[in-house]
Formats: sequence, structure tokens, C-alpha cells
Amino acid sequence: MNNNTGKVYIIGAGPGDPELISLKGLKALKKADCVLYDFLSPSELLDYTKRRSEKICVGKADGLHLKEQGTINRLLYRKALKYENVVRLKGGDPFIFSRGAEEARYLSNKKINYEVIPGITSAIAGPESVGIPLTIKNKLSSVAILTGRKKNPNSKIDVPDCDTLIYLMAVANISRVVKALINKGKNKDTPCAFIEKATREDSRVIKSTISRIETEVKKNKLRPPAILIVGKVVKMAISN
Ligand code: SAH
Repeated sequence: MNNNTGKVYIIGAGPGDPELISLKGLKALKKADCVLYDFLSPSELLDYTKRRSEKICVGKADGLHLKEQGTINRLLYRKALKYENVVRLKGGDPFIFSRGAEEARYLSNKKINYEVIPGITSAIAGPESVGIPLTIKNKLSSVAILTGRKKNPNSKIDVPDCDTLIYLMAVANISRVVKALINKGKNKDTPCAFIEKATREDSRVIKSTISRIETEVKKNKLRPPAILIVGKVVKMAISN
């Protein structure tokens, strides 16, 4: 590692509620000289940064990239040469459908000191925030985290043989996800739910079945970010 450069902290900001960042992440954020953040990282967290710190929005929400990944990598490198503490703040966990690992690899190749600070992923916090457990002891024991969006529109949506399926980035592609589930032999009455803006105050939940969910998404004008959860666990929700 190069001791003449700063350190980059790749931090998971958590799913949406700003209080769900880790203590370690918050400490690093408070001492940052420069923060590169996404749309999905809660904006309230920027209030904890030093007033004079440089704050750069590098975009990255569904379908909207203000900056390309190569540009973000190079920017991180340049900021590490300039500042002592640089933070890359990412929604959820930086290694779940996020490109934190690519950024870490790029920095490692450039001999820049970095640390990854995990975050609570929306894949788990989303269902949990509305009382849906992901596993049930001795009954439902396997969970998969998947993407509802593939870069190549012809590549198929994965439907592994698991009790609980959690799809990220599935709103725009819901009809393909539903087709994939049915083609894989899932019962049309299998319960499923979408959780929009999980852990935020204006969060919404839509509970339905595989056969009805697409209609519900349209009727309710559901928008990203949202998590789709498929499986019997949806019926096991605990209400408070
Ligand atoms: N690294 C992130 C995921 C980034 S991919 C994480 O661990 O959570 C972007 C997708 O994450 C969105 O399309 C959506 O499916 C999901 N997502 C992120 N934040 C969310 C939130 N607050 N509510 C619902 N879904 C969310």
C-alpha cells in the first residue's frame, strides 16, 4: 500500500432509514474530507459530514447513472491522492448488487489503502421492516437474493429452488420475473409482496400472489426502489 495517499472507506449506508448505518460507518463518515454518494444512500447522512468536506453525487439509481463506473473508480483514486479520508457511501450493503467490490479491486490495484464497512442490505431489511421473516425454523430454511434486471434483455431471470426468493430491481421487469417464476413451476397462488422505499417514512407494501402482482404494481404505480419477496414467508408476516 502507498503510505503517501489517503484511505478510502467503502461504506454501506443501510437500506434507507439513516439510523441504520453502522457505528463504524458513521465514524468514518464524520471524519471524511470527501464523500462520493449514490441516490440510494440516505441524504440525511450527509448532515454528519464535516461542513467543508467535498460532497459528490455519483448517481446510480435504477436506470440512471450520472457517472459511469470507470469514471467513479478514477474519481476515487484522484480523491485518495488529494485527501486523507475519502468515503464512498453506497445504499444498503456495498457488496450486494452494488459495485463496491469492483471499486475495492480498482483501489487495491492502484495500491490505495481502503476498508469496506458492511451495511444492512435492503434485501433483508426490506421484508423485515414489514414483519416478514426470511426463514421459519424447521420449515422454510433457504433464501436467495436475486436480480430482476439483467443487462442482456434475453438472458433469463434466475429462479433457484429456494423457499424464499428476494428480487431486487424487479419493478420495471415484473412481467419477465412473473413469467420466469411460472415457467419454473411456481404455483400461481404463491404469496408475494413488494416493499417500496423500505425503512423510509413513506414506505408502501403491496401483498399479492404471483398471478396478480403485475396488475397490482401497475394499479398502485409502484416505483423503484422496491424489493419483491416471493414465498410462504409472506403469509407469516408479524403485524404490530
Ligand atoms: N446494495 C443495495 C442494493 C443496490 S441495487 C442493497 O444492499 O440494498 C438497487 C436495488 O436495491 C433497488 O432497485 C431495490 O430493489 C433495492 N433497494 C435499495 N434500497 C431500497 C429500499 N429502501 N426499499 C426497497 N428496495 C430497495
